[in-house]
Amino acid sequence: MTGMLQKFKNAVRSRSIHVAYVDTGSCNGCDIEVLACLSPRYDLEQYGIYVHNNPREADVLLVIGCVTPQWEDKLPAIWEKIPEPKVAIAIGNCPVSGCVFNREGSYVNPPASKYIPIAANVPGCPPRPTEIIRAVLSLAPTVFKDYEEKKP
Ligand code: SF4
Repeated sequence: MTGMLQKFKNAVRSRSIHVAYVDTGSCNGCDIEVLACLSPRYDLEQYGIYVHNNPREADVLLVIGCVTPQWEDKLPAIWEKIPEPKVAIAIGNCPVSGCVFNREGSYVNPPASKYIPIAANVPGCPPRPTEIIRAVLSLAPTVFKDYEEKKP
C-alpha cells in the first residue's frame, strides 16, 4: 500500500513543477524563448509547469546568460534559497561557454556549473521553446522520485 501511495505521490508531483529563472547576463534572446513557453502556442502550464519569481517556491532553476562578475555570488545565493529536491538547467550556449560574449577583454566568467550544480544543458543560441520544455519535463521524474526518501 505504501508503495502504491508513493507511486501516486510521485506521479502527482511530477505534474506540478515550479520553475524560476535567472538571467546572469545575456542578450535577452534566451529570455524571449523562455517567455515564449508561456504563450498560447507552447502553453507551458498544460504540462503542469508553472513559472515563479520567488526561488523559495521553485523546484527547477533555469539559468540564462554568461555569468557576469555581479552574478558570481548571487547565483549560488539564489540556488541556496531553493528547497530540496531541486535541479538547475543551463539554457542556451551562454551559461555553458559564454557564447558570443566570451572574448578577450570581456567581463564574463562561464560556465554556470562553476557556481552551482547544473543537471542539464539546453544548447542553442537561443534554444527553441520546445527544447526548454522537453528538458524540464525530462528532469521532473528524477527530481520528484521518492520525494520523501530524499528528505534528511
Ligand atoms: S545563448 Fe545566444 S541567444 Fe541566448 S543569451 Fe546567449 S547570445 Fe543570447
